[in-house]
Amino acid sequence: MRLTPTVLTPEELALKQEVSDWLDERLPEGSYPLGLGMAGAIDPEFSKDLGSQGWIGMSLPKEYGGHGRTAVDRLIVVEELLARGAPVGYHWIADRQFGPGINANGTEQQKKELLPGIAAGEFSFSIGMSEPDSGSDLASVRTRAEQVDGGWRINGTKIWTTGAYTATHIVALLRTSEDRHHGLTQFIIDRHTPGLTVSPIEFIDGTKDFCELSFVDVVIPDDRRLGAVGAGWSQNTGELALERGGVDRWMTAMPLLERWARREAQGASASAATELGTITAKAWALRGMSLSVARMVDAGKSPVTEAALIKEMATRFEQQCVDTMVRYLGRPPRPDSDDPYERLLATAVQVNPSWTIRGGTNEILRSVISKGLRNQ
Ligand SMILES: Cc1cc2nc3c(=O)[nH]c(=O)nc-3n(C[C@H](O)[C@H](O)[C@H](O)COP(=O)(O)OP(=O)(O)OC[C@H]3O[C@@H](n4cnc5c(N)ncnc54)[C@H](O)[C@@H]3O)c2cc1C
Repeated sequence: MRLTPTVLTPEELALKQEVSDWLDERLPEGSYPLGLGMAGAIDPEFSKDLGSQGWIGMSLPKEYGGHGRTAVDRLIVVEELLARGAPVGYHWIADRQFGPGINANGTEQQKKELLPGIAAGEFSFSIGMSEPDSGSDLASVRTRAEQVDGGWRINGTKIWTTGAYTATHIVALLRTSEDRHHGLTQFIIDRHTPGLTVSPIEFIDGTKDFCELSFVDVVIPDDRRLGAVGAGWSQNTGELALERGGVDRWMTAMPLLERWARREAQGASASAATELGTITAKAWALRGMSLSVARMVDAGKSPVTEAALIKEMATRFEQQCVDTMVRYLGRPPRPDSDDPYERLLATAVQVNPSWTIRGGTNEILRSVISKGLRNQ
């Protein structure tokens, strides 16, 4: 495993400034609900505006509506968005992983049909991997796609499918044969396909983005298959580098941290200054690691182990940040406070245990890291 230090080029720094200036205009403070990282509000209008700036699907080829830019360029854009707690929920998953996934594994027809809508911020994707009995042990998924005349019939249940209620598409990992790893295939399923029922599950903070998907004799054509039959596991593994190594894994609490720092700066105690320095140093180190992973992706590598290391370290860091802010508040934050900072902190207290679970638990990540190191 090697994370090579790197810095932004003058062109990349210019992009950062351009995005920041645009967001100052488009999202003035107080004009939108402050969000926590990728769980930012679902706002299709904002996603379309961002898409028309060319800042979704940035690395997709121009012929499919993308912009032929780099993973580092995308990192720069999302860093600006997450620092502001922007409403990124609608386009997040399509932009982060299924745009690149369809570009890598999709047919010409799928690319033409789906990538322009992803880059325009018009399509919203959900991840249909977990099942009631398959989370960490993902290779045990049982929701089955059975080949029928001209297509596939799907039966089973998916759970914890974030954003499925408002999604236009779901990429599901389904069992197509008994072989544990080679018996899995990815499919792109339209959210409104007959036989698919999407039921929201209320999350601890009262939001209903979490969903359960029930497939009862759902029939889809073969042209909805993403990649070869049996290639689902390896495709899924490749996507994990995009899912785990990004700045979204350490920036969830950033809008809170910035406000906390502003408050503490007014007559900061020595201990608060020390905490702030420690947090800043850790955030900067994690940023360097994410940047290094993005450069590896741009070089055509699949840094799965490095990404797992970032996620394991970064999500623990985010949780420590919440603990620190609550300690300085001196009491549990109130969800009904008039102060938007305190309300968001109260939400962070409720939801932060999930940060080390979603996208793979820390125990699983440690296994991935140790296996990756052993195989080097
Ligand atoms: C906020 C949030 C959003 C999510 N969004 C999505 C989504 O959009 N799509 C989707 O498909 N899924 C989603 N998930 C599901 C998530 O991927 C799973 O919750 C996660 O992979 C853990 O699976 P599980 O809940 O079944 O727990 P389990 O796998 O049952 O794990 C329970 C505990 O056992 C530990 N454990 C399990 N196996 C091992 C092992 N081999 N070694 C050591 N410890 C082990 C785990 O670390 C954990 O602490 C989301 C989850 C959360 C919390």
